[in-house]
Amino acid sequence: MNILSGPTDVIWDVTYACPLRCTHCYSESGRRPARQLNHDEMLRVADAIVSLRPEAVEFAGGEPLLVRGIFDVAEHIGRAGIQVNLYTGGWTLTARTAEQATRVFSRITVSVDGADAAVHDRIRGRAGSFDRAMNALALLDDISGRRTAVGADPVEFGIDCAVVRSNLHQTEEFCTAVLPRFPHVRFLNFSAAVPSGLASRAEFAERELLTNDQVRALTDVEHVERLVSAAPPSVRVTTSDNFILQMRPALVEQGFVAPLMQVEPDGEVRAMPIYEGTVGNLLTEEPAVLWRRAVARWSDPFVAEALSSVRSMTDWAEATRRIDRRFGSEEVLLRIDRRPVYPAVPAPALKTVTPGAAHGR
Ligand code: SF4
Repeated sequence: MNILSGPTDVIWDVTYACPLRCTHCYSESGRRPARQLNHDEMLRVADAIVSLRPEAVEFAGGEPLLVRGIFDVAEHIGRAGIQVNLYTGGWTLTARTAEQATRVFSRITVSVDGADAAVHDRIRGRAGSFDRAMNALALLDDISGRRTAVGADPVEFGIDCAVVRSNLHQTEEFCTAVLPRFPHVRFLNFSAAVPSGLASRAEFAERELLTNDQVRALTDVEHVERLVSAAPPSVRVTTSDNFILQMRPALVEQGFVAPLMQVEPDGEVRAMPIYEGTVGNLLTEEPAVLWRRAVARWSDPFVAEALSSVRSMTDWAEATRRIDRRFGSEEVLLRIDRRPVYPAVPAPALKTVTPGAAHGR
């Protein structure tokens, strides 16, 4: 694989607006300006992404379904022969948008961070978010059921759970209590939460990111086999430590790297997906040049030094904080300084939040 030839996947956070307020939000969505482009500008960013010829574009955020015209933009990329996938919290999905989404996107992932409302709503920061996510899965399940009944392809949809200490105990319950509600669901991914954005705060890392033993337990072969046998046979169940996102130079050199490009809502390109710091904008510069600049950052001496001693999630969080401060813009530094301290006792789920208010997955 020649990394310089371009990213295999592009993650485009199309907005930083979001109706939820997750404790671990990597993008601090809902708590910052949405930075959304207008429709024409989005199409220009889409063309720039297409020119890189990735295999897939992941529409994320924030909540992508809050973006007017999102289906047109995704279809525009899909017409170029590139797979388009959607990540959603499910809050805004309706019967009509579910039909549109299943027509345009090749894969739809609904984020669910608890096997019941108490755990999910507390992590996601909004009462009712578990019921909304279940409703979104039910809508997708219904469409898939109707399709398969007439011999058409099923909808490729499933669940992604960001695993923290507050929900680690529920992995089997996901398989036994959540999956049976949706007979057509295709996959269930458990991904260890990574120290990015709000999840990089020191107190959050100490209290919520998995310990080394917990990471090992999550990804242990026997644990995965137990989950697979607890889940309906039609569902693919996977777990991940997400270490591939760390981008420790020693590991990158050995090829342990995912060639991902992360694009912010306004077209700014991140040098490294989970860390702050951009290398230019797809609206004004050559996409291939931006990719080469991004790849150059991976072996930057400061990055190498910051990541070299990472042995745990808390080490990783500390390295993230250093990298974010070193490469973040003035706006990033101000945002970091305004982050609320993660409370010793997490607050109960919020009762009211203004949907789409200033902020974005
Ligand atoms: S963007 Fe995703 S993680 Fe962030 S608050 Fe919204 S739903 Fe939660």
